[in-house]
Amino acid sequence: MAYSIGLVLALQILSLLSSTAAVPNGPQPRNTTFSEAKEQTYDYIIVGGGLTGLVVANRLSEDPEKTVLVIENGYVDNGIATYIPYKANILNVADMYPITSAPEPFLGNRTYPVRVGNVVGGGSIVNGMVFDRGSDADYDAWEQLGNDGWGWAGLKPYFFKSNHFTAPSESSVKEFGITYNASAYGNGPIQVSVPSFQFKDIKTIFGSWKVENVPMPIEGFAEPIGAYWLPNDINNATATRSNAHVTYFVPVENRTNLKLLTGTRVNKVLFDNSYGNLIANGVRMVSHADGTVAKAYANREVILAAGGVFTPHLLLLSGIGPQDVLAAANVTVLKDTPAVGSNFQDHPSLSMTYNLSNEAFPNPNSYTLNATFLADASAQYSKDHTGPWSFGRGSASAFLTFKQFSSKWQSITAKISQQNPLDFLPARYSQNPALLAGYMNQREMLIQEYLGDTSAIGEYPIQAWGHASAALEKPLSRGILTLNASNPQGFPVVQWNALQNPVDAEVLVELIKFNRAHWARKELAVYNPVELLPGAQYQTNEEIIQGSISTGTLSPTFAHPSGGCAMMPEELGGVVSDRLLVYGTERLSVVDASIIPMIPATHLQATMYAVAEKAADIIKSRAGLHASSNSRGYLAVFASIDVI
Ligand SMILES: Cc1cc2nc3c(=O)[nH]c(=O)nc-3n(C[C@H](O)[C@H](O)[C@H](O)COP(=O)(O)OP(=O)(O)OC[C@H]3O[C@@H](n4cnc5c(N)ncnc54)[C@H](O)[C@@H]3O)c2cc1C
Repeated sequence: MAYSIGLVLALQILSLLSSTAAVPNGPQPRNTTFSEAKEQTYDYIIVGGGLTGLVVANRLSEDPEKTVLVIENGYVDNGIATYIPYKANILNVADMYPITSAPEPFLGNRTYPVRVGNVVGGGSIVNGMVFDRGSDADYDAWEQLGNDGWGWAGLKPYFFKSNHFTAPSESSVKEFGITYNASAYGNGPIQVSVPSFQFKDIKTIFGSWKVENVPMPIEGFAEPIGAYWLPNDINNATATRSNAHVTYFVPVENRTNLKLLTGTRVNKVLFDNSYGNLIANGVRMVSHADGTVAKAYANREVILAAGGVFTPHLLLLSGIGPQDVLAAANVTVLKDTPAVGSNFQDHPSLSMTYNLSNEAFPNPNSYTLNATFLADASAQYSKDHTGPWSFGRGSASAFLTFKQFSSKWQSITAKISQQNPLDFLPARYSQNPALLAGYMNQREMLIQEYLGDTSAIGEYPIQAWGHASAALEKPLSRGILTLNASNPQGFPVVQWNALQNPVDAEVLVELIKFNRAHWARKELAVYNPVELLPGAQYQTNEEIIQGSISTGTLSPTFAHPSGGCAMMPEELGGVVSDRLLVYGTERLSVVDASIIPMIPATHLQATMYAVAEKAADIIKSRAGLHASSNSRGYLAVFASIDVI
């Protein structure tokens, strides 16, 4: 059955319809109210009840003596889009922020949607359900950048603590040749599985990778290089999505020491600097219900979990950021930290698309082209939670080293060390030696990764239709997140600067060429694939890039914004230490995707569950937080001594 470009439009329309239906009752009851929380003091205030915020809230409230307030901008959504796996095919825009990026200077000044969850559970509610991890080397690079305990060995126990794998049905394993090794997973709250339902063409399309010169490990979570099956965050017992809300929050929401305040935006971190230090002691917050502004206090720690876009924004609004940016927006400078909002990363992606003939029925196009199939799939799911709607977007991918998808891996990599890095970085890097020094460390590691066999540089999601996307996993370009000077309390200015470094464009071209060669293989000839996006007419490198930009095939993002409050030594452009504390402050930590120093070759959620589990242990272990209370009732802290 032919693929139609109109499908994209149809999916968007369905998305709007479905998203509206997804919140049938509007905002759900909150666990605490704005008026209850205002002027109150808690041990911990967590800003952002998204993926990492809810993990940390769960773990910190295990101690009944500690009070925890989670403040979330969005609301609880229990609508169908949040639990039916099939709905992952339709962007749940109702649960996302309506942000658009700044013009991307190296993508023809085009602007792009910035995909971020705005709901209790954050990205885990709206994401595409892919559950995978980077290679050991990807995390070891974090440790080599100066973060003790953040290599694979230090993170592995937390991957095990956060997830649990259940096998697909034996008949699916046999029919589709699904391979897995459950021992690569742990015994945590997030349930993951390769869905038992698969579209028939996946056999041929996944099978076509057997003829490439790439490994096909039995279990990608154990060996994340090559082409392999990967799980989704899905609870096999119910065939429903397993997100941070249902796994980390709902089971503990009756703890009296844990409070969730929804529909409330934190717009400033409050500090007590009466001792000469910046001691975080609370937040200022705005209720969406009526615009009321109030404060709440934390006597142990304010924990930022507002995600890869909004945590840097909040630090800027709180006076921690580049002096010129703060001054331009009339924000009082508490600490001049040029690193806040720098080092911003994502995975530039290519929505390559082929028109296929002779696809089996059903296939993913059947949802939009065959109303009977859609109705039957819906009825089957309603009846017993089986069938096509128990399947998300896809459960196989190829993560390839550079040499696995390009014969030019050495010559392209050689160009990196010949570059003057400042020619291809935001201007801020030339004014700040620490930022440049940190980038140079990253660049050295990226060169090793580009040349080596232990890190993936490109990804090809493997799906049972002609949607043949690809992503650049290790970009050299760096973005900037900053304040809108004329409206600082509005959305931040998000600029990925994708392709500022021309090597990124060259690697993307290599990804496209490999994809073309792959789809031209005789094993896929049965489908007579015809390239729709970007289009076979684009042949030279320049044509391929310009064609990918003009057709919308190339995007600066894979919905993985990260890195804007990097965990690195301060003298190397870090914002937080490896104990997650913001430099120059006390009792202020960050636990979300903004701390990622260098983006790993993976979709981010499994990593963020592990990071948040580790963060909770680090925060719990802090000593020296038991000094005397001041007049406002918070515990004045004169020394924060970490013991791990
Ligand atoms: C559309 C989409 C698809 C994705 N697909 C995948 C996928 O298939 N696989 C995968 O592994 N990853 C995927 N991801 C990425 C993954 O979900 C995120 O990396 C992850 O959720 C990041 O966790 P976080 O806690 O850092 O941020 P989030 O989960 O985004 O949580 C941040 C929370 O903070 C709240 N917040 C922000 N600012 C404030 C404020 N000032 N006051 C109060 N609350 C605030 C937000 O509303 C949000 O709920 C996807 C993400 C999106 C958006």
